[in-house]
Amino acid sequence: MGIYSPYRVLLISTAVAPLGSGLGGGVELFVKNAAQGLRQRGHFVGVLAPQGSKLETCDRLIQLPGQLQPTAHTSQRNSPIVMPEPSVLGAMMDYARQVQHEYDVILHFCYDWLPFYLTPYFKTPIAHYVSMSSLTDAMDDAIVHVAKTFPGTVGVCTRVQAETFSMPGCYRLIGSAVDLSLYDYCEIPNSELVWMGRVSPEKGLEDAIAAVQQAQIPLKILGKLEDEAYWQALQTQYPDAPVEYLGFLDTQGLQSAVRTCRALLMTPKWVEAFGNVAIEALACGVPVIAYKRGGPTEIVHHGTTGWLVAPDSVQGLVAAIARIDELDRSACRQQAEAEFSLDALAMRYENWFSDLLSPVSLR
Ligand code: UDP
Repeated sequence: MGIYSPYRVLLISTAVAPLGSGLGGGVELFVKNAAQGLRQRGHFVGVLAPQGSKLETCDRLIQLPGQLQPTAHTSQRNSPIVMPEPSVLGAMMDYARQVQHEYDVILHFCYDWLPFYLTPYFKTPIAHYVSMSSLTDAMDDAIVHVAKTFPGTVGVCTRVQAETFSMPGCYRLIGSAVDLSLYDYCEIPNSELVWMGRVSPEKGLEDAIAAVQQAQIPLKILGKLEDEAYWQALQTQYPDAPVEYLGFLDTQGLQSAVRTCRALLMTPKWVEAFGNVAIEALACGVPVIAYKRGGPTEIVHHGTTGWLVAPDSVQGLVAAIARIDELDRSACRQQAEAEFSLDALAMRYENWFSDLLSPVSLR
């Protein structure tokens, strides 16, 4: 347990999707890992989430009904704040307000205005985990205002993500993790590549497909079809590409599909805040070929556990694919063990909470 007495932590999950649906993307893994890591270190973890959520790794799961929030990555820069009524986010914040005295700290994962706005009205300190880069002016204002007014309360995944907001030095680096026990190392891969994530334009799947079409290497695709029209357009554009869509898989299915692949392709068109799929692949010993943009630049060890390629360069991807065998699969697993363990993540949370709860905190 270290030097801390156990905390009672209330996690507030994303309001854009039920946990386990896949539509929340990486934030679902952030919530699951925070719950599991903190619980394994002896803390009490309650989780508030939209109805229909599945989560076994917490002490108490409270599911609330209501309309889901729209996803921020489909917004425009000047999009206004939207709260469809009856709002599940409103219900979660109302519930949190009522039970706040039962918890030492509230940790939320909503890329939404309301939890930031309500911060001064809560007695229990709120830690804000921001899981995406700057996307809209309204969210930037909300995030930066809290970072200024309540120093130390806003956490981020990577430095490069923090740099997309103003005052990049004001955010606490929390990062991400994988439960290594769920991902098996594979020494000898087959001939396939893999791409995984939400199938949505900001993820740039078209570039991965174009690259494997040129390289004539089969590609497995895993993940939620978030944007069906985009997926259909890709089928039309690349009718003969050597790709196979396996659907949205749970962690066990995902790791068994990924571990035997030669490399993961990551082709984001946006500044990926982190990119959980990268560390899941590394945990299986699968190197990562990623555009040199956003979170993957802080994850991939160029030339050892992957290749970082000029952004938006399909030729760059093809060249990197030709050099996969220079990468070291055991180094990939070792990197995941050394840098992305669940226990280390939970300790970063503990330290964060300890600072927020300390009497000298400027909160
Ligand atoms: N994922 C999954 N099943 C799949 C494909 C992806 O559970 O078939 C999960 C994967 O484990 C990861 C998330 O989808 O946690 C994608 O997160 P990432 O951080 O890479 O991107 P985001 O969706 O947050 O932009």
